[in-house]
Amino acid sequence: MRVLKTLFFSLLLSCTCAAATPADTSVETQVIQSALQPSALEENLRRLTDEIGGRVPGTPAMQHAVQWGVQALTAAGADGVHTEGFTIPYSWSEGATEMTASTAHQVSATKVGGGTVLSVFRVRVVSVAWAPALAPVKHVPVVDVGEGTTADFKKAGELAGKILLVHTAVLKTWDDLFAEYAKAPPVVDLAVKAKATAVAFLASREHDILYRHTNSGEGEIDKLPMVLVAREDGERMARLLAAGDPVWADLSIPNQIGGPIKASNVIAEIKGSEKPEEFVILGAHLDSWELGTGALDNGCNAALVVDALRAIKASGVKPRRSIRFVLFSGEEQGLIGSHAYAVAHRFELDKAAGVVVYDAGTGKTTGFAIGGRKDVEGTARELIAPLAQFGVKDLKPDIEWGTDHFDFLLEGVPTFVAEQEEANYLENYHAVSDTYDKVDFAQLKKHVAEAAALSVGLANLPEKIGPRLTHAQISQTIVETHAEDMFKAFGLWDDWVGGKRGREK
Ligand SMILES: [Zn+2]
Repeated sequence: MRVLKTLFFSLLLSCTCAAATPADTSVETQVIQSALQPSALEENLRRLTDEIGGRVPGTPAMQHAVQWGVQALTAAGADGVHTEGFTIPYSWSEGATEMTASTAHQVSATKVGGGTVLSVFRVRVVSVAWAPALAPVKHVPVVDVGEGTTADFKKAGELAGKILLVHTAVLKTWDDLFAEYAKAPPVVDLAVKAKATAVAFLASREHDILYRHTNSGEGEIDKLPMVLVAREDGERMARLLAAGDPVWADLSIPNQIGGPIKASNVIAEIKGSEKPEEFVILGAHLDSWELGTGALDNGCNAALVVDALRAIKASGVKPRRSIRFVLFSGEEQGLIGSHAYAVAHRFELDKAAGVVVYDAGTGKTTGFAIGGRKDVEGTARELIAPLAQFGVKDLKPDIEWGTDHFDFLLEGVPTFVAEQEEANYLENYHAVSDTYDKVDFAQLKKHVAEAAALSVGLANLPEKIGPRLTHAQISQTIVETHAEDMFKAFGLWDDWVGGKRGREK
């Protein structure tokens, strides 16, 4: 996943803060040179995507991916590699989802006949992830509810027992993606209230591309059956309805849902030479959706984490603090692995010296989001100075949700999320087309260099880049970056304020 919060506040920080501690960037240069050498990056990713494939927690592929992570991090030269388990409340897998539409239209009488003609056509469709199953239903009326606003629902009339067609915008920008996630839950609530049988969202991708989407935030099973329909088929049904032709659908969603799943994060370490108990985390999620093979999201960045370890080791640089290289799981079901890790390691997060996360394919890195931390900005600017050669120069103040830094941010740890150009990420996002051939390796290699250099830079500062913030201080950064609306849109606000998620005091 990768959802950016950029709607509310996107002003870049100006450089006003004095650096708290001077950064020595010569070791970063050494690490960058090492990162740009030939390595197993391509081969590691080929094995992860082509041989193992899509990686949903609870499946054999995910278990193989964990073995891949342990093996690849060991081969890269880690001082130690281990796994840490956690639980996801439900398992979920899609069966053979099928939808067939029929419509009736009048043909005026001619020599060869006339009257009512029935047309039947197949609708290309996939279930929304972690949505409940639907036993086969036949000849159910399809109703167009437009964008699915409250006004749209009122206008649509009686919706009980019907299939609701919901329109979407074509996905082009990070803001569009944020909007797609934010828009669906209120539609689902209205559909449940109206006692609809199912919701059919038009795919936000053109050319028949289907993809996996979820509206469930923390691995819970959603409230009603939902499918994504290929945009072209959805538009056809919408045009028929607009022309006054009735549309009915046969729909079957035989999802298989089971009890709790055991999942694992993979953690490797380079031990710090001076302050081994203090640590930087470089992380990316290893799990993916399974319609494609999870290459851009997020296999390429799992391979990046492995190769960054290789690059640091091969450079001969011995970081002062430890660096943990973490391959998270359960990210696509709602950041479950990184949340579990942050909670399990809460006792030692005072010693965390920064968390760096990559989760946006291989579009060029333009900078890092620093989660509202004005206090780290001056030093961070020094640390990214050697990365200007790759085009990395912006520090964005925004608090973002939607990838594995989030629960560390809520624990008060300084976080650095790579800001990347969209490139080909969005058209292939969670889609059948997210495969190895989409990865820009020349660019990925630069990202390995950036990630390794920033991690070493954070690990080598004389003092940690910033302190762990208290609950009150974190709240202040949420207010200052205007992130409350984002927290509310994703159902995170009550958990934060109520102390159920994030730092308690
Ligand atoms: Zn992702």
